[in-house]
Amino acid sequence: MEFKLSTRKLDTVSVVDLAGRITAGEALTALRQTIRDEVAKGHNRILLNLKDVSYIDSSGLGELIMALGTVTQTICGKCGATVFKDEDGAWDSCPQCESKERKAWGELKLSNPGRQVTDLLQFTKLYSVFDVHESETDALASFKKSR
Ligand SMILES: [Zn+2]
Repeated sequence: MEFKLSTRKLDTVSVVDLAGRITAGEALTALRQTIRDEVAKGHNRILLNLKDVSYIDSSGLGELIMALGTVTQTICGKCGATVFKDEDGAWDSCPQCESKERKAWGELKLSNPGRQVTDLLQFTKLYSVFDVHESETDALASFKKSR
């Protein structure tokens, strides 16, 4: 099946419907651009619906990890500014408010993975890195209620 991507907004969640094969090339470019656009718009609750995805290869998996990193990047827990690590890998104080509190910018979840995708996530031990839900309803219910 040909790769397809479309987005819809359900309440406060941006749902990205993916279909076909997520492999090197057009699919990855489209996915990356979509995540960037959503983040740029401040949409911090993103659900990737994998229901119609037939196949993901290792580069597709890499793109999913990148998307997760982008959406869940660490920010200041008080003012939301971007924070950085020092050379020892410890978080510096917030450059704006000096706070040491940290939180993730947003949430990214996966739903409806098919057999190949589930096997790939389990084989690569990434199943627990992602927040994977069997249905869209479960995934939507799992987003934090308050933001
Ligand atoms: Zn701050």
